[in-house]
Amino acid sequence: MAEFIMELNDEQKEVRDWIHGFAADVMRPAAAEWDEREETPWPVIQEAAKIGIYSLDFYAQQYFDPTGLGIPMAMEELFWGDAGIALSIVGTGLAAVGVLANGTEEQIGTWIPQMYGDVNDVKVAAFCSSEPDAGSDVASMRTRAVYDEAKDEWVLNGTKTWATNGGIANVHVVVAVVDPELGSKGHASFIVPPNTPGLSQGQKFQKHGIRASHTAEVVLEDVRIPGSCLLGGKEKLDERLARARERAKAGGGERVKNAAMATFEASRPAVGAMAVGTARAAYEEALEYAKTREQFGRPIIDNQGVAFQLADMRTSIDAARLLVWRASWMAVNGKPFTAAEGSQSKLFASETAKKVTGQAIQILGGNGFTREYPVERMHRDAAIYTIFEGTSEIQRLVIARTLAGMPIR
Ligand SMILES: Cc1cc2nc3c(=O)[nH]c(=O)nc-3n(C[C@H](O)[C@H](O)[C@H](O)COP(=O)(O)OP(=O)(O)OC[C@H]3O[C@@H](n4cnc5c(N)ncnc54)[C@H](O)[C@@H]3O)c2cc1C
Repeated sequence: MAEFIMELNDEQKEVRDWIHGFAADVMRPAAAEWDEREETPWPVIQEAAKIGIYSLDFYAQQYFDPTGLGIPMAMEELFWGDAGIALSIVGTGLAAVGVLANGTEEQIGTWIPQMYGDVNDVKVAAFCSSEPDAGSDVASMRTRAVYDEAKDEWVLNGTKTWATNGGIANVHVVVAVVDPELGSKGHASFIVPPNTPGLSQGQKFQKHGIRASHTAEVVLEDVRIPGSCLLGGKEKLDERLARARERAKAGGGERVKNAAMATFEASRPAVGAMAVGTARAAYEEALEYAKTREQFGRPIIDNQGVAFQLADMRTSIDAARLLVWRASWMAVNGKPFTAAEGSQSKLFASETAKKVTGQAIQILGGNGFTREYPVERMHRDAAIYTIFEGTSEIQRLVIARTLAGMPIR
């Protein structure tokens, strides 16, 4: 097990500087334009693909970094660049992780390359779990997957919502109900291959922030996919369902709940790191502005009211980063999340991003309120972190129930 180290090593610093260069030179100058256009920034994704930032190899390298700091470091830098563009770049990773976590080697080898495409023809992927009536309450999911044994095909019907890259993705990973009696334990994940008839984009949402990231409904009408598109395969699913039915009969189920919870605990710090990136970006803008903007014959940072805000902003950001790094290190090293440390990191970092970006607007005064300065966009972007991958209320619920030793529902 790797020691918990609170400093990047030389190699990690090199990678960080390389990503930072891309974030500063390519993402930042493009941020306002793609925010206004509310479209997927394909040329920027292509630039990222050219230098290797948009690729499975890159994320795999960071993911398997034994210090656990690879992913948070990469996320912080990309989201420092711009949250909307960064989500367009890393959104495919959400779907890829779904396949990596549940797929067979053959499925991983077949589908993940198609999620990214290649430098000359970049593609994106979508992970579709949320539904209009199943957001926080994932167990209420209604999208059904029914097995047609005669044809060895699965038939998917339902409506997914809020899917990042939904409808424009080359590959969609769809979570659906295979046994309604079992609640969330009766769910399975499926690959919907490119151009499958019956899958269409519903409403594309116009959003408050991260507007360069495409978010849409995905409608599934008699979508027929080969049996081989069930992630993990039929045999494994049947075994898992049989175990869940046995446990349900015996009134148990803790192990399944704990396994699902461990997955969330491991993925939430990455969202925390995104929030740290946005918060740091806004803080840096505010610090620079406070040092140069003069009122009453002196820089505004000479006023304790402004300086103390900056001190609090920086302290919260550093605390958030430490929580994120700790949870990421725990995830990579298989440490048990006995106090829901992953959720803690996501909760604190996302609330910090929302607060700090608001403080940054205040410090920039009228300029902060205009689109001439980036903190207004950063504040709009930051609002997403307390909502997706589990709202702040759900994080608190998970932390509290974990501390109380109660099952997570
Ligand atoms: C931009 C964006 C991108 C997204 N990307 C994806 C994606 O790629 N794939 C995907 O599957 N989903 C995605 N989502 C969906 C996201 O994960 C959900 O929006 C989120 O889980 C919350 O669900 P909801 O919106 O239905 O809110 P609800 O669950 O309806 O919650 C509404 C409010 O009630 C509160 N609440 C609910 N239950 C409780 C409770 N038990 N105790 C206390 N408070 C509670 C919530 O905290 C929230 O404040 C995305 C969402 C957005 C906005």
